[in-house]
Amino acid sequence: MGFAGQNWFINAAALLQTALEPEDLLETLLAVEQDFGRVRTIKWGPRTLDLDILYYGDKRVDSPRLTIPHPLMHERLFVLAPLAEIDPGWVHPMLELSALEMLERLRAMDHGQEIEKVDI
Ligand code: ATP
Ligand code: CA
Ligand code: CA
Repeated sequence: MGFAGQNWFINAAALLQTALEPEDLLETLLAVEQDFGRVRTIKWGPRTLDLDILYYGDKRVDSPRLTIPHPLMHERLFVLAPLAEIDPGWVHPMLELSALEMLERLRAMDHGQEIEKVDI
């Protein structure tokens, strides 16, 4: 059993360069989820694909449809571990901590989260 009672899932982080504004990027990601056959049922339930925007440079967005940086990113080991590999020096604009510092902080806490690195 993985985090929060959900079964194990594969997670990855990617760094993108895009001309899309954050709202348009979200629309694109939601469309890709649809293409992968995602059906929205219960929140945090099993799904085929979940694409979230963790951050967008140092921009902040807070609208009903979109919150950037992702409000739970600093509490999730499965987010911070891959992120710290690809962009360790990115600094969270509100917490003023780098991705690597957020990872080290979370690792030092009793977070109860289990992750395992896999090479694909
Ligand atoms: P969590 O936020 O815990 O990761 P989730 O990814 O399971 O939750 P979803 O059901 O996939 O949640 O998404 C619900 C809505 O969250 C989306 O339709 C979107 O409008 C909104 N949302 C807000 N901020 C973001 C973000 N940074 N990235 C992706 N979706 C976001
Ligand atoms: Ca998510
Ligand atoms: Ca999502």
